[in-house]
Amino acid sequence: MKIAAFDHDGVAALGLVFEDKIVPLAAISPDLPTDMVDLIACWPAVKPQIETASADLPGIALGSARLLAPIARPGKILAIGLNYADHIAESGLTTPEEQVWFCKHQTSIGAPFDPVERPLVSTQLDYEVELVAIIGKAGRHIDKAEAPDHVFGYCVGNDFSVRDWQLATPQWMLGKSFDGHGPFGPWITTADAIGDPHRLGIRCLVNGEQRQGSNTSNLVFSVWDQIEHLSKAMTLLPGDIIFTGTPAGVGVAMDPKRFLRPGDVVRAEIDELGAIEAVVIDER
Ligand code: ZN
Repeated sequence: MKIAAFDHDGVAALGLVFEDKIVPLAAISPDLPTDMVDLIACWPAVKPQIETASADLPGIALGSARLLAPIARPGKILAIGLNYADHIAESGLTTPEEQVWFCKHQTSIGAPFDPVERPLVSTQLDYEVELVAIIGKAGRHIDKAEAPDHVFGYCVGNDFSVRDWQLATPQWMLGKSFDGHGPFGPWITTADAIGDPHRLGIRCLVNGEQRQGSNTSNLVFSVWDQIEHLSKAMTLLPGDIIFTGTPAGVGVAMDPKRFLRPGDVVRAEIDELGAIEAVVIDER
């Protein structure tokens, strides 16, 4: 299933995506949650009812809805660095023995087709296409073998990065957490529809030119490794999201460096999960 958060005529809602149509969950039952985290938290109870829905139910054209970030305010936005071998090489680094984690913050969340701002304080805006995993079932000390049971679904994300701010200090967080620099979507594809997520083509295009192209099979630390490791430290909760790393081809690693400029169109796409797209604008 594909579950979108969307705005139609000024009303935010959740719905199932069928080809070019969205069926609002309210058309299935008025009692279903209207918030994605609430939906994820009660998913085992409501899934059988939602599964019965089909494209025959009343809906709206996908093109007439404004898609919203699937989760507006994730409790945690965890992101791993240096997790594709080719990206590690282009960064001039060696594969870390420990997983390298940083956070993005709630105000970095953006809708899947919203513009992205080049900040007032930097010209070094860069892109990072990433597979995003959405936590479903809460857990602590989750064994790798059990990790798939804790994933609700997957999205395409773009871990926009302000490189001078990221690399000015040993902590990357500020350069990763500018407002709107963590768009994801276009909707959540449920985990059961994907199965093994380590087999998906992943690409980023700028103005139609492919800059990044890889496959999630090339992750150094798998999604399951990541969940096992993170949950040794913290309880993962429904609606927490994980940016799972980016492949080679980022602008900062090019010679000469190629940063994003106003007017650039940045498209991030992953097989079976869809695509998100942002026009770069100057911060107002
Ligand atoms: Zn990243």
